[in-house]
Amino acid sequence: MPRVVYALLGTLLVSYLASLVLRSEGDTSLLVDGWLVAGFELVASALCFSRALGLRRGRTVPLALGCALLSWSIGDVLLTAESVGGATPPTPSLADAFYLGFYPLAYVALVLIVRRETRSLIPATWLDGGVAGLGVASVCACFAFNTILRSVGGDPLAVATNLAYPIGDVLLLALVVGGTAILSGRRNAAWIMLATACGVNAIGDTFNLFQSSGGASHIGTVFDGIAWPTAILLMSMSVWLRPAASDPLAAPKAPGVLLPGLGALSGLAVLFVGTLRHLSPWALGLAIATLITVGIRIAMSTRSLRTLTEERRLQSVTDELTGLGNRRYLFQVLDAFFAEYDHRRGPERRLAFLFVDLDHFKEINDSFGHSAGDQLLKQLGPRLAGSLRGSDLLVRLGGDELGVVLIDTDLNHASGVAERLLARIQEPFMLEGVSVRISASIGIAFAPADATDTVGLLHHADLAMYRAKLGASAFEFYKADIDAGGNRLRLVDELRVAVETGDFVLHYQPQVDLHSGEVTAVEALLRWPHPRLGVVPPLQFLPLAEEAGLMRPLTAWVLDQALAQCAAWRKDAHELAVSVNVSATNLVDAGFIDVVSDTLARHGLPTSALILEITETTIIGDFERCKHVIAQLCEGGLTVSIDDFGAGFTSLAYLGSLAVRELKLDRGFITPLVVDGEGRDLELVRATIDLGHALGLRVVAEGIETAGTLDLLARIGCDLAQGFFISRPVPASDLALHADFRPAVPSVDELKAS
Ligand code: C2E
Ligand code: MG
Ligand code: MG
Repeated sequence: MPRVVYALLGTLLVSYLASLVLRSEGDTSLLVDGWLVAGFELVASALCFSRALGLRRGRTVPLALGCALLSWSIGDVLLTAESVGGATPPTPSLADAFYLGFYPLAYVALVLIVRRETRSLIPATWLDGGVAGLGVASVCACFAFNTILRSVGGDPLAVATNLAYPIGDVLLLALVVGGTAILSGRRNAAWIMLATACGVNAIGDTFNLFQSSGGASHIGTVFDGIAWPTAILLMSMSVWLRPAASDPLAAPKAPGVLLPGLGALSGLAVLFVGTLRHLSPWALGLAIATLITVGIRIAMSTRSLRTLTEERRLQSVTDELTGLGNRRYLFQVLDAFFAEYDHRRGPERRLAFLFVDLDHFKEINDSFGHSAGDQLLKQLGPRLAGSLRGSDLLVRLGGDELGVVLIDTDLNHASGVAERLLARIQEPFMLEGVSVRISASIGIAFAPADATDTVGLLHHADLAMYRAKLGASAFEFYKADIDAGGNRLRLVDELRVAVETGDFVLHYQPQVDLHSGEVTAVEALLRWPHPRLGVVPPLQFLPLAEEAGLMRPLTAWVLDQALAQCAAWRKDAHELAVSVNVSATNLVDAGFIDVVSDTLARHGLPTSALILEITETTIIGDFERCKHVIAQLCEGGLTVSIDDFGAGFTSLAYLGSLAVRELKLDRGFITPLVVDGEGRDLELVRATIDLGHALGLRVVAEGIETAGTLDLLARIGCDLAQGFFISRPVPASDLALHADFRPAVPSVDELKAS
């Protein structure tokens, strides 16, 4: 801001005020009151233009205001010129045209400021401004027009000119008050200064009105003289004030209701007074307009309140990620069902709740990142909804848990739906260009048969789901006798007891050397024979053991049993190695390496008798630590194998830095291999085998279910094979160690040799 110039203008203004006060009544000077004041105003308007020139953006406001002030100043220059020699200027004069030109330009500036500040304003706030502005305008109109009509008569052009000023002022005031109502709650010094300037101008105009209607007084002359230059100075200064930086973290303030409220009251008051005494039709018209705006505002508020309430309700029952209903919605629906069930006399309605829990969702998140997990859930919603009836309800309970409510259903229908859902879940998902498969477990409970309240129904479906996770079937119905009390805690307790008493069995699955056709190693696979649940497979209870901190003793038990068995085989002249699976918690256990070497020593076995399998996902989960532990195991002479290689979807780049000796290709690659020896899967397996060999690793293929796959793998150079075709995992006593699994086709070595 050109402070020096404004300081000078301010000093001039104060001096002018002093001169007005000290002057005797009726004493006017054309030089001071005319030319000097006009010059003062011209400088103030020039400062607005200089501000506009200095800005790169937002020039329009200072430009509009500069033009407004220039128009006013020219009016003053012309009036002074017309008054030279004591002449009385006519009404209307040319000066009036310029004076009146100030108003539209000032309106433009005011509207532009409000627009600039309130790009995101809702119509209701504009209406608030309208109510405040119109209300004030109606009050002002009562006084302004009555006085004018009383004081001026005769020439219609003169009447029109004299009317134009109060109309212009009333509109200006209406805009200022309306704008203040709209901008309330925002710190905008420029607006405050501009609004004050308009107020001062209105005071000046009011005094002028009284002066010219015969109520002249000395004080009136002083106010009349000082108000306009003061208003002009403030307007000019306002363009230099910058809007305060907004705080992006602060919650947006709601616009105040004081000014719109006062506006509405003013409109009412004017109409009331209008019934008692004569008021100008302008005032009455503005008052009616105020109240109409209030009416529109109320109607709009009511409508948006209704929409908002509905939106809020929808939001509160919708899962943000998938757009499905959420847990709250499920509770509402089920609570309503049970409430009705309590009061119903008619035929009983049956409802089934399916608790769907995705398997291995965590691995998807770990391998691809959480956004891929989100993507999967988003794809899942519409896919599952497609296999439900319109009257069924699909909700997301949270995480990887979904729920389905089937109304008027029975056992057959519910199991049909569960099968359909499982089939749809197992279809591949495209995540970042990669095709990924998942599975799920479903627990089903019926109402009112299995539960008579929402919490009970969900709990029972959860128990059944958990049994599905532990058992062989992907979905299970709630069974009171089995599930009652059969919750996680109880299972953990049972598992703890089983670990203490060694209540597990090991099954062994042979690995065949594809070059010689002989069994050279076996993989030890853990089973939990459970009194109620039957034989529980490892993937179902191992997560529980991890959670309960039981992996350390469990792996120690497996190592001990497997190595004891290995020693027994070796005693019978079977030079086998045994493969033992190791979990992530074992690797973080500082004493693990000692446990391994102590167990080997106890059974009198060399390190070559043991292979430790670590899954690729475990390695990815904590790469640096795993790399370190693997290096230590390797130093001790142990063979470490990367299990389920390729299931972790990561790059092969890190392979070279790990001290592993074996790769076990994930059976997801092997089982679908087409026997005719073509296709992308085959190329992938071939390339991985070649890569493993290039790094000096032995390559094992697991999941071989057919003779064709076995032959194919032999042909492309795989070293070892494991799978149901050779043997399922069986107790040690059932293992056929002498079978010859020499492939039916010549191996690469044999082909090279021939
Ligand atoms: P894994 O180490 O990849 O074991 C191979 C799994 O594939 C075994 O499942 C086996 O029964 C199955 N399998 C073998 N050949 C075929 C085939 O031709 N077709 C099909 N469809 N499947 C085949 P299982 O016994 O259920 O073990 C699952 C996983 O549990 C194992 O995967 C391993 O990661 C883990 N696990 C098993 N025992 C232990 C253990 O003692 N400790 C630890 N930490 N994990 C274990
Ligand atoms: Mg394994
Ligand atoms: Mg495996």
